[in-house]
Amino acid sequence: MSDAPRLLVAVDRARCIGSGLCARTAPADLVLGPDGRSAPARPDSEPSEELTEAAEMCPVEAITVRDAATGELVAPVW
Ligand code: SF4
Repeated sequence: MSDAPRLLVAVDRARCIGSGLCARTAPADLVLGPDGRSAPARPDSEPSEELTEAAEMCPVEAITVRDAATGELVAPVW
């Protein structure tokens, strides 16, 4: 088991416009639901370039990734 910090991924579904960019970029962490909007794919996530990239490329800034232990914002960071 990795001791890397666990991350919590959240999607503001009211903001999501269903572009699908995040689900294509980080399919392990983000999936499009039946309503065409994105949602976290699993209850917690490991850090990855794909996840960071997905959070940073969302056109409406709907995705946040936080350290599960501290609540610190991990992505997006500008
Ligand atoms: S990139 Fe943003 S707008 Fe596009 S599906 Fe993901 S959360 Fe929604």
